Amino acid sequence: MSKKGRVFSGARPTGRQHLGNYLGAIKNYVALQDEYECVYCIVDLHALTTVDTTKDLKQNTYEMALDWLAAGIRPEESIVFIQSHVPQVTELHLLLSMVTPLGKLTDLPTFKEKVRQNPNNVNYGLVGYPVLMTADIALYKADSVPVGIDQAPHIEFARETVRSFNYRYNTKVLIEPQMKATEIPKVLGLDGQQKMSKSLDNHIELAATPEETTKRVMQMVTDPARIKRTDPGNPDVCNVFSMHKIFSPDDEVAMINVECRRAGIGCVDCKKRFAANLNKHLEPFRAKRAEIGSNPDSVMDVLNDGAKRARAIAAKTMEEVREAVALP
Ligand code: SF4
Repeated sequence: MSKKGRVFSGARPTGRQHLGNYLGAIKNYVALQDEYECVYCIVDLHALTTVDTTKDLKQNTYEMALDWLAAGIRPEESIVFIQSHVPQVTELHLLLSMVTPLGKLTDLPTFKEKVRQNPNNVNYGLVGYPVLMTADIALYKADSVPVGIDQAPHIEFARETVRSFNYRYNTKVLIEPQMKATEIPKVLGLDGQQKMSKSLDNHIELAATPEETTKRVMQMVTDPARIKRTDPGNPDVCNVFSMHKIFSPDDEVAMINVECRRAGIGCVDCKKRFAANLNKHLEPFRAKRAEIGSNPDSVMDVLNDGAKRARAIAAKTMEEVREAVALP
């Protein structure tokens, strides 16, 4: 089947992936492969803008790649690689930075947010983060970038930067990427309040054992107004119920929806059911992860092969770019 175009997406190497990563990104990555030529990049250089230490960078990259592959990313079709293995991206980043007004970067809401979070580490790389992101997309001539609506300003920035480059050098060598608006569900953590995240330790790892998973699920906060077992609950405000809707069979979801409201089911039982359904859902993932992980070199082989294919595209783009800039 001929594909609709090329999609690019990058993610920071955050190590073992959790349910939030799965529902918010990986699941979509897997699905996109059916229709698009996909380029999936582990953006280790981006990670350097904010990390304090690089000691876990290699292991985190490996674990994340392993999770992607176990979840169904097909490296024989898609290009899966590590950003720094394609050095051309840093060259394009530099050339794009020459057509980027500084004020535009410092005005971006995400930059302001990063400064607020980390006022003592506002480095040059952090300011240029969106330029590097643009280079990632433009280098592989991706036409679509799947992102949630909150990322729209970054894609708009990338489009404008590509336009500025093409205008400045009177060329059409770089492609303006289109935003492929993707509904990214906000997956709440065990606390039922904040987004699931490793740093908040409110997450459930995909690769956790069934026992660990059940233990984490039993810690989930439910309807806060339901104090006693005999109190009727409200599934509409309960994160456990939101998860049931994703991972449990329809008849069980319908039953909980009724029984919770009349205290016919307790939260302990409800969570046990969710844990069982989640574990069942993750069974094939875990089996595949164990199989691939039994040969760690195979993961690195996939990443090396991906980098080779990515470098071939990048080399061609940079040849055209250098010519357009008229570098001697
Ligand atoms: S019974 Fe289930 S849906 Fe209802 S409040 Fe408890 S955990 Fe949530």
